[in-house]
Amino acid sequence: MKQFQAFGLNSTILSNVEKKGYSSPTPIQQMAIEYIMAGKDLLGIAQTGTGKTAAFSLPIIHRLDDFKKEVNANRMRVLILAPTRELATQIDENIKYYSQGLGLDSKVIFGGVSIDPQIDALNLGQDFVVATPGRLLDLMKRKKAFVDEVDVFILDEADRMLEMGMIEEIQKIIKKLPEQKQTLMFSATMPEDIEVLANEILNEPIRIEVTPEEKTVEKIEQSLCYVSNANKPFLLAKILSESEFNSALVFTRTKRTADHVVEKLADSGIESRALHGDKSQGNRQTTINQFKDGTTKVLVATDIAARGIDIDHITHVINYNLPEDPNSYVHRIGRTARAGRAGVAISFCDGSEFPLLKSIEDLINKKIQANLDQPFHEEREALLIKAGKSPKKKDKKSQTKRARRRRSFKG
Ligand code: AMP
Repeated sequence: MKQFQAFGLNSTILSNVEKKGYSSPTPIQQMAIEYIMAGKDLLGIAQTGTGKTAAFSLPIIHRLDDFKKEVNANRMRVLILAPTRELATQIDENIKYYSQGLGLDSKVIFGGVSIDPQIDALNLGQDFVVATPGRLLDLMKRKKAFVDEVDVFILDEADRMLEMGMIEEIQKIIKKLPEQKQTLMFSATMPEDIEVLANEILNEPIRIEVTPEEKTVEKIEQSLCYVSNANKPFLLAKILSESEFNSALVFTRTKRTADHVVEKLADSGIESRALHGDKSQGNRQTTINQFKDGTTKVLVATDIAARGIDIDHITHVINYNLPEDPNSYVHRIGRTARAGRAGVAISFCDGSEFPLLKSIEDLINKKIQANLDQPFHEEREALLIKAGKSPKKKDKKSQTKRARRRRSFKG
């Protein structure tokens, strides 16, 4: 296995990597760094959590430092597009960390905040710009940002961008990029439209695929709670008050449900914060910071808001609603068990969610075990009967055990 020293990264970057606590490269870093150092185009099929940010940042920082040059006003040498403000901020933070001591600058650009400081920063010329597409286009229209001198273009989470309807904006930006450049594209999945886009923008790319989340998933203790929608808040409160957890990430399908869950938990004396797209940028950042530093132990989020957030210490992921897309189940539960840690994933399933459960179990190719410790066990049977699945015959021992649990929950 290659170590970071083997890639020829300069000593300042190596010492920053060491300071960050990485002892050896992750699989995507093993595979990608030397090609990116060599200036090749690359298609990385990899999810968040694989270490892809460092995989592209480290070699690009090295190359920029190697060929230092003045950046013209309103231009940037490296342009990174990301789907959400959170992800863009995180990439920018990583770049700043890995490039400490090299005198390179990086600016993050996204909508929903004042544009003037962004204009001022761009006016100085930037080595790195990490942007969401909408705000960057706005700045380009105002002639405050020009992408015609970009040496390296990186498209991160391309599939998510397309899902979020950003394709037209991306295409408009791509049209203005120079012909001669290095392009890197990362995507967790490769649907047809992503293949098309990859063919369009990449020049003889190296293709690298890593599927670590599936491996990580094996380390996660997964369980299922059959519970009606009405009882989900009570079950969540019970689980949170009885489990020993460090940080818990609760996923809901909608923003409204996320707010509702926070209110219900507060009724049970459990503090939590909601993270979703209707919250102001300031509020979202405070929420993320508090969750990162442990002030907030329970974060209730929608998929999009939570995507890409880089938090290592999550011990519990709770699917309050099952996701519509079974791939999201794997992404969600992969948020725990990061960096080799173990994790717990608990999924709530009401009667309407049986088809979603089936798609998830088909995808991960195993049955998620029902949690016999849950209080609403009688609901499981009712839900299964309603869904036309007869509950399993129970042996006497487990019946007695369950009756005891039910009594202790009520009492
Ligand atoms: P990413 O896929 O870029 O979002 O990274 C996922 C997580 O892995 C982040 O918390 C990184 O700080 C961490 N990470 C990246 N590279 C390494 C490494 N070589 N060793 C340990 N952790 C890493």
